[in-house]
Amino acid sequence: MTNPLYDRLFGIHASSTTPFLYLQDGKTLTHMDFLAVAAQMANAMVQTGLMPGDRVAVQIQKSPEALALYAACVQAGLVFLPLNTAYTVDELSYFIQNSGASLVVCDERSEEELLPVTRSLGAKLQTLNADGSGTLMDQAHGMPNAFVTVDRKDDDLAAFLYTSGTTGRSKGAMLTQANLLSNAETLVDYWRFTDKDVLLHALPIFHTHGLFVATNVTLAAGGSMVFLPKFDLDVILEKMPLATSMMGVPTFYTRLLGDNRFTHDLASHMRLFISGSAPLLAETHTQFENLTGHRILERYGMTETNMNTSNPYDGGRRAGTVGFPLPGVELKITDPESGDLLPAGEVGQIEVRGPNVFKGYWQMPEKTAAELREDGFFITGDLGKIDEDGYVHIVGRNKDLIISGGYNIYPKEIELVLDEQDDVLESAVVGVPHPDFGETVLGILVAENGQTPDLDKAMNAVRDSLARFKHPQKLVVLDELPRNTMGKVQKNILRERYQGMFS
Ligand code: ATP
Ligand code: MG
Repeated sequence: MTNPLYDRLFGIHASSTTPFLYLQDGKTLTHMDFLAVAAQMANAMVQTGLMPGDRVAVQIQKSPEALALYAACVQAGLVFLPLNTAYTVDELSYFIQNSGASLVVCDERSEEELLPVTRSLGAKLQTLNADGSGTLMDQAHGMPNAFVTVDRKDDDLAAFLYTSGTTGRSKGAMLTQANLLSNAETLVDYWRFTDKDVLLHALPIFHTHGLFVATNVTLAAGGSMVFLPKFDLDVILEKMPLATSMMGVPTFYTRLLGDNRFTHDLASHMRLFISGSAPLLAETHTQFENLTGHRILERYGMTETNMNTSNPYDGGRRAGTVGFPLPGVELKITDPESGDLLPAGEVGQIEVRGPNVFKGYWQMPEKTAAELREDGFFITGDLGKIDEDGYVHIVGRNKDLIISGGYNIYPKEIELVLDEQDDVLESAVVGVPHPDFGETVLGILVAENGQTPDLDKAMNAVRDSLARFKHPQKLVVLDELPRNTMGKVQKNILRERYQGMFS
């Protein structure tokens, strides 16, 4: 019997003394050391009475032990459920209750506040701190450093991952062993990861990007990671010489470009820079190439599906596109109303099907039925098109579509024009209530460093290139756009803020 995910990602390294994690303080953890800790944690959790299939909800700082807890859960057949470190205790209570977690692992600092919650729900509570201390580790240290891997089938759940909550309340996506494994294998091939790779890892590990994309790909390739607690520009610049590759959200790249210590020389030895989780501005792509000679490889994915598309490793990495459907992933563009396939080049909803697509939302049968078709296609909630060369373009989210006077307006189209203005760094276009049109277009601009956007000029640029019904009713300037921890622009906050503007 086997545990496909554990065997392939972790088990194969069980006796390897090769480096796995290079830590910020200069220490190195080998694959074997790492897996010994994971086995101890698995023993500790099983000893407290956890059974295969039980959920383990964790809200802890990023650390090697936190990553080992993921491995331990996979090895013990427990469902790993990492939660955003920014969530308050109130928010956590919802997730703990919603997931029916049997064990909650938290930082010592939230223990007291969480105890009444876990008690009332009948869940166990243990601690794991950023420095690797805590009750879970205390217990684990006394345990054998080998663990008999629990058998699992392809279709068994490996993780529950809550979505980022950009468009509403986070949903728990049920991910199987095969979902995670198939995507890791595909990405290793597609992005040419090998055991020589050292990935600069500064992403959080409660989200699919840092946890599954970055970590699973590195594990499957047998490579290593410079494993940093967070994105700290000074540290990134110091550690980049050790790395061969980096995965980041677009803000990582804009922050690197904003620092004159980031030079062509510093990046010259790197093999690959990958971006995702939010749209990378074409301008960032170009600036990055001008400085470093590297073309950032942009890909597109989500909690429910892992990765769906990617720009190619060899061949054209096109700015402003997310590349091609990955091998084994089918992607189609359909009419949001009828669900019918749209002709090539037209904008519609993006649907995907493949071994990467999740099993459904935990305890949300209606939502699952509405978004996961019986034929296996998942309606992503994103709008996009496929161009004549087969590249997928993301136009925005279905929920951000503006319907004004009966016309559909895609914010991205207007944002692209606004972003092109020299005095505009970036923009967000949202729909706000309007007495005559139902909704109308509002453009929010962020100034290019030290400049003041010329609103008349920006408006004229829009008038010159877009039909009248798409023209913003008004343009406003903000210091910065509201973003969540993954660097995603929170348009719901903008809509709320300006909802009374015209009504
Ligand atoms: P929620 O579903 O709770 O509203 P969310 O969709 O932001 O939150 P995630 O699963 O973390 O939660 O994010 C997936 C979404 O991120 C995608 O549906 C897409 O909108 C966006 N995204 C990911 N990569 C890219 C990219 N390269 N370009 C544009 N958008 C991207
Ligand atoms: Mg989503």
